[in-house]
Amino acid sequence: MAASSTRYATCPLCEATCGLELTVEGDAVTAVRGDAADVFSKGFICPKGASIAALDTDPDRIHSPLIKRDGRFVEASWDEAFAEIDRRLPPLLEEHGRDAVGVYVGNPGAHNFSTILYGRVLLKALGTKNIYTASTVDQMPKQVSAGHMFGGALSVPVPDVDRTDHLIILGANPLASNGSLMTAPDMRGRLRRLRERGGKVVVFDPRRSRTAEEADEHHFIRPGTDALLLFALAEVLFSEELTDTARLEPHLNGLEQLRGLAAPFTPEAVSGPTGIAAEEIRRTARELAAAESAAVYGRIGTCTQEFGTLASWLVDVLNVLTGNLDREGGAMFTRAAAGQTSSNGEPGSGRGFMPGRWASRVRGLPEAFGELPVAALAEEIETPGEGRVRAMLTVAGNPVISTPDSERLDRAFGSLDFMVSLDVYVNETTRHADVILPGSSPLRRSHYDVALYQLAVRNVANYSAPVLAPDPAVPDEWRTILRLTGIVTGQGPDADVDAIDDFVAGEAVRRELGMPGSRIGERDAAEIAEQLEGRSGPERLLDLLLRAGPYGDRFGEEPGGLSLDRLESEPHGVDLGPLRPRLPEMLRTPSGKVELAPEPIVADVPRLEAALGRGANGHMVLIGRRQLRSNNSWMHNVPRLVSGPPRCTAHVHPDDASRLGLTDGEGALVSSEAGSIEIPVEITDAVMPGVISIPHGWGHDREGVQLSVAREHAGSNSNVLARGDLIDPLSGNAVLNGIPVELEPA
Ligand code: SF4
Repeated sequence: MAASSTRYATCPLCEATCGLELTVEGDAVTAVRGDAADVFSKGFICPKGASIAALDTDPDRIHSPLIKRDGRFVEASWDEAFAEIDRRLPPLLEEHGRDAVGVYVGNPGAHNFSTILYGRVLLKALGTKNIYTASTVDQMPKQVSAGHMFGGALSVPVPDVDRTDHLIILGANPLASNGSLMTAPDMRGRLRRLRERGGKVVVFDPRRSRTAEEADEHHFIRPGTDALLLFALAEVLFSEELTDTARLEPHLNGLEQLRGLAAPFTPEAVSGPTGIAAEEIRRTARELAAAESAAVYGRIGTCTQEFGTLASWLVDVLNVLTGNLDREGGAMFTRAAAGQTSSNGEPGSGRGFMPGRWASRVRGLPEAFGELPVAALAEEIETPGEGRVRAMLTVAGNPVISTPDSERLDRAFGSLDFMVSLDVYVNETTRHADVILPGSSPLRRSHYDVALYQLAVRNVANYSAPVLAPDPAVPDEWRTILRLTGIVTGQGPDADVDAIDDFVAGEAVRRELGMPGSRIGERDAAEIAEQLEGRSGPERLLDLLLRAGPYGDRFGEEPGGLSLDRLESEPHGVDLGPLRPRLPEMLRTPSGKVELAPEPIVADVPRLEAALGRGANGHMVLIGRRQLRSNNSWMHNVPRLVSGPPRCTAHVHPDDASRLGLTDGEGALVSSEAGSIEIPVEITDAVMPGVISIPHGWGHDREGVQLSVAREHAGSNSNVLARGDLIDPLSGNAVLNGIPVELEPA
């Protein structure tokens, strides 16, 4: 029997970044617990993290490249796979131009520092405008509103949940998600402690979620009307003179304009469309204003709807109006240890957010932060003409399941001239690929959460070395990405990956030195490169970011400061303290101020005003449902996460079930203008009347999918019901909530 050892690692599966304690025997993880000594999660773990070993041992996982020959995948060597890509991709680029290749990056890419740090190298080398990610079926509205208000893609304030006295949550279920755009392991514990110290949690949601059950108050709200409610809260603050902006005023632009914008949205005016009594709205606003400290937090339900950017903006408007932006217990900006451009530098040193530098070919939809709306991808593939997307590269993504009008995208992928996928499974999307390049197991690669630590409710840093020996048959993703970079830059399939990596590191050093306010700006590039020697790949880039970052050792000038050496010696992470005020230093708007009334957002307000006249029209409307044991579309092949009663069900209120003749446990046919699905009904008063709730990420019964467990628990794909032409115009984000549907017994 192999001797066992204990290893520690950060869970890379969701935004919460929990510390794991893993028992390793031989080449296997035999037990997983929460790491009680982790500086951030303190022992918390969820069922997904506890199942991480099953991802490593999954028999359906791909361990060698696959090439499609005569319609079937056959195993190939890496050299054969790259030779095939080199044979087919460069001629296509040569003949049809760079935009003929589209790229889709899925959510797991945000949890992998290889794909984050090197994906941008490949995208730059590829030079296509057709870049799509899961962001435009998720949080893009929040990024757009934060970009307009504060200047950066990730300058998103997070609730200071550990110190706040009052938390209003809209369209979010952090007990299931463990925080989203709010990195916060153990949200149940954090919310309980909030209430134990006398604070209050108020939830607005069309569904009585797990979070709503734990809250002091839960109000049903009609799907898609969050912006109306938020505007009404602002209107009450103005009209009853409850605003508290004196501290923030030197940093604000547009405060008076806001007052005028809010005026039509009285509680009485929004009561009909939201379904919330005017007096309840007034009371909510007064309690919010009276709280010692408070934060308003909105998440996916406020983003994936027709007024996503307006709702996201109004969340932070309320945090400003109540004086809670950037103060302890309010909504604050994390100061991340690595990779946050606003962590060094000065207010006003940024150029601000500049959307629309290019537009999609068919519908003319503007890019935001370098990407186009994924709702436009199918038409970009299908519509003939110059600039048509003829080839795709997908990275850890399954857009055939997770984006709107799924059936059309499925057909469109089937019509591509060439497709390469970097993925661990043959799933609904990658089954269309000509070449699949496997990625590494989360237990066999190192990890640092470059993205999610930028949104953490406490400043922390934690690096994990691989828990198990890397699989010699599967190179780390950064090597695969750089080999692809070699192909698209004309170096062929055997480019010198280490030489490209040296070049990338040299560029990164020069970039750090040239940044306004750089903490290492006076240093010599050659000397810095020398200090980074001995490392390569993402470790070298991370070491640079840490050492040049706000807590870094500045390459020896601040002994004891952060470096990768230091993190390697601290397996439970480094606690960098609670969030601290960061205004105005973090602002990257051209004005150096918080823009409360950005022109594009103001121009969209009349569209919301037109919605004031709406009431319930008798239609059922669809919303999503986050599940603790599910992670979008990709963890349904883990037996212990899908065992038990079916989870992909439609929640329907008893009144609606009785009116529509639906029976608990029986099937229903759900139809929209985009398509229809069959799904078992669960009758529950946890959804408000007129609303049907279906979790997304299911529907694994398509031909060619090689997910044996998921196929047994296939479920139905809710995105078949979502129209590709319905988007939030400011962000291009798909509208997945509030879709009118018809229900009947199946
Ligand atoms: S909450 Fe997220 S990070 Fe924590 S154990 Fe679960 S999946 Fe992993």
